[in-house]
Amino acid sequence: WSAAPVINGQAVNTFEQDGANQPLDSHTVRAPWNHNVIAGKVQYANAELARQAIDAAVAGQAKWQAVPASERAAILRKTADLYEENYAELMALCQIEAGKTTQDSIDEIKEAVDFCRFYADEAERLNDITHEFTDLAGKQSRQVYKARGTFVCISPWNFPLAIYTGQIVAALAAGNTVVAKPAEQTSLIAHFGAKLMYQAGVPSEALQFVTGAGEVGGALTAADNLSGVIFTGSTQTAQRINQSLNDHAQANGELPILIAETGGQNAMIVDSTALPEQVVKDAVLSAFGSAGQRCSACRILCVQEDVADGLIELLQGHMAELVVGNPTYVATDVGPVIDADAKQGLESHIERMKSEPTANILAQTPMSTSSVVSEEQSTFVLPTAIEVQTIDVIGGEHFGPILHVLRYKARELDQLIDAINATGFGLTLGIHSRIENIAEHIERRAVVGNTYVNRNQIGAVVNVQPFGGCGLSGTGPKAGGPHYVPRLMKLSSESFSSA
Ligand code: ADP
Repeated sequence: WSAAPVINGQAVNTFEQDGANQPLDSHTVRAPWNHNVIAGKVQYANAELARQAIDAAVAGQAKWQAVPASERAAILRKTADLYEENYAELMALCQIEAGKTTQDSIDEIKEAVDFCRFYADEAERLNDITHEFTDLAGKQSRQVYKARGTFVCISPWNFPLAIYTGQIVAALAAGNTVVAKPAEQTSLIAHFGAKLMYQAGVPSEALQFVTGAGEVGGALTAADNLSGVIFTGSTQTAQRINQSLNDHAQANGELPILIAETGGQNAMIVDSTALPEQVVKDAVLSAFGSAGQRCSACRILCVQEDVADGLIELLQGHMAELVVGNPTYVATDVGPVIDADAKQGLESHIERMKSEPTANILAQTPMSTSSVVSEEQSTFVLPTAIEVQTIDVIGGEHFGPILHVLRYKARELDQLIDAINATGFGLTLGIHSRIENIAEHIERRAVVGNTYVNRNQIGAVVNVQPFGGCGLSGTGPKAGGPHYVPRLMKLSSESFSSA
């Protein structure tokens, strides 16, 4: 596979960009579980190409917003069909480029397809929504949804197809043109997704595709003719983008909107009435599924002290059963993390916890012997459970297969919720309890975007369980829900006299 920027439908050969024949940056993509497996090559854009992409999208805005909503919807549905028809190649890319397990890859493609179909329906729904008012003198007014303008979509590597596609198709559904910049680690799958979108009929002026790392994202968000940015990634980057939007006055005087979906420090609260087997199954899936690289993942399992010993024992048993290794093997539960930097950060946290007197390693699942991988040439982090005595000692979000366990006293439930709130994040919260009204009590006190009661604490289901956080976790609205596309549009009021 290969990827390069696509501007106005033309693939840009970045090796020919610089007048002095200096190639721009490029990057060879190696499978995270075995660096001998080469997935392909990515040519990076630079600030100048980012600028050209924005200008192309701005120039294409009038044409794309004039396309009837039904036609836009048809193109997005066709994209969904093409994703399904190209399932095998998308699966291979999810596995080889992002290191996803078979099940995670299946879920990834399904979510991307669901986003296309859901936002296609939204394009049609919002086109039909006009609020009409008539006053006594016979004057009428109505409100209609209209496109906003050009959006920059900056997506992460952890859902390289689903979030990437969701961001783009939501903006396109609204009639906005898009400049998409996927995470540098997963440009190949994003490029393939863009190819399928063009093939489905997304016009070349409506979608510009830009590769590259943070500097290229920075150049995009410093442009002066944007209507908005849709971003998923770290809280720090969201803050930088926010600053950049504030610093750069827009030529059209508009204030661009920022929709940011960022990190989490998610807890699961388990009291003595919870069903232990169910709790441990849910916690293990949430904490170690996708190698812990889901924003929604449970990071802190808070267990009422009366039942903690039994639950920890059960947790150790379940963790011992996890198959850690080559993600292309169907039986694998936990694959590698995305890259060497991620591995290094996670392992240094584990090392720090080992030397922390108040922390205690409860379990660490070894590599599965059935997996043929070279550990030196791969980015595996062993699933690890660590008991801690306070949330503070964890020190922020660790985006990988690490679960912290904290005991709490029943009478200190409110203090526990306050401590979880005090992390500043507010993405997901799991609750396991059979006590009547306790979930409502916790939900009212917790500052959090998504709660999961007596069920697994896992992300989103498009149209059924819209997803998004608050505080340091994001600005909303919730992706996959009815308030998302309206936020990308302008509600315009038109008044007229019937006389
Ligand atoms: P993660 O920690 O998940 O890698 P990042 O916030 O670093 O998250 O990256 C998420 C996305 O944001 C990627 O596409 C990355 O290239 C992009 N990015 C990083 N820095 C910036 C920046 N300063 N401005 C715009 N985009 C950026």
